[in-house]
Amino acid sequence: MDALGEPAFRGRQIAEALYCQRVEELSSVTTLPKSLRDRLTAAGWRIGRPTIAQVFQSTDGTERYLIQCPGPQAETVETVWMPEGDGSELADEEESAPGAKNSAPSSPRSFADKAGERDPQSIKPWSRATICVSSQIGCAVNCQFCLTAKLGLQRNLSAGEIAGQVLAVFDRQQVEVGRDRVNLVFMGMGEPFLNYDNFMAAVRLLVNEVGLSPQRMTVSTSGIVPGIERLAAEPPEIRPRLAISLNAPNNEVRAEVMPINRKWPIEAVIDAVRQVRLRPRERVTFEYVLLAGVTDQPEHAREVARLVRRTNLPAKVNLIAWNPGPGIPYAMPDPATIESFKQELIANRIPAYLRKPRGRDIYAACGQLKRTVEG
Ligand code: SAH
Ligand code: SF4
Repeated sequence: MDALGEPAFRGRQIAEALYCQRVEELSSVTTLPKSLRDRLTAAGWRIGRPTIAQVFQSTDGTERYLIQCPGPQAETVETVWMPEGDGSELADEEESAPGAKNSAPSSPRSFADKAGERDPQSIKPWSRATICVSSQIGCAVNCQFCLTAKLGLQRNLSAGEIAGQVLAVFDRQQVEVGRDRVNLVFMGMGEPFLNYDNFMAAVRLLVNEVGLSPQRMTVSTSGIVPGIERLAAEPPEIRPRLAISLNAPNNEVRAEVMPINRKWPIEAVIDAVRQVRLRPRERVTFEYVLLAGVTDQPEHAREVARLVRRTNLPAKVNLIAWNPGPGIPYAMPDPATIESFKQELIANRIPAYLRKPRGRDIYAACGQLKRTVEG
């Protein structure tokens, strides 16, 4: 709007129409004067949001979507819907205020305001859900156990493409903001902190326009220190929770499975995490992928416990059993080893949860997002 010589508030009106009223075309943005709408249309401007192009359904209720991004190349990005979450967010529920829903209490605009009592016809088959959102197409970080890494980085997603994934899923699942318990995890394809500006712009759209609470959003990073530092400087009203992909008990093993550790070793990551001013009851999550024989031994659990305790941060560990992918040279840990790893952490006073693998049969689980089209 600025570039067209229009006042900045016109841009805000368009954002409101797209993300709050969710209109589909310029002619319906009735807050803009008709003459401006006509002028924009004549000049070739369009508005729109990404749409779901393909759906893969898992036997466990998870759905994986290929979402079409508008643009010259017909590119798709992946988003995952997990009714009832993946188990690990239960730990977060305990931390939220009782009865907390996913709307920002201070949000002036919530769809639910006009929704009234829920129509008994519209009772949903889920009471809680998690949406896993992508921030890039592919990823440049090259973690050795991750299928997305095999794509390399294809491109960053725009803020609209990131926030648009959420709205596309909301539309499909008829999510009512302020009523339904939906968590967002920025844990899909890509490294959010290597696309920081667009990622945070998307979060601002989701908080300020859509009306979601940042306390129900978690961003996961492989440990991009400048990104963590920038997140620490964000105002608390829009800062999502933070999860760090620790994935190894020490720098030696971590550098082997996550080459990025050579640039930012564990200590540097933890120093950056310390700069985040946590909200009351908020904890930092350390994600930990269990690779059979590589990171899943009892001594590794003791090392992780020491490491996490030394951080002196309110923290919890989310364990993720490695999800297999073609051409990746690791093995899945067996259930007994996973359970003893978890118990070892708990015995060492570290809260530990096991993330349920969701949608493995449709390549929807952690580290499996690679735009696989069979499924
Ligand atoms: N790029 C960000 C967020 C996306 S990955 C990050 O790495 O944190 C989300 C989580 O999935 C990370 O914790 C990552 O370590 C984990 N992951 C990647 N590949 C996996 C696999 N094959 N099996 C299980 N977890 C995996
Ligand atoms: Fe990228 Fe995360 Fe996969 Fe590492 S685990 S390659 S950072 S998506």
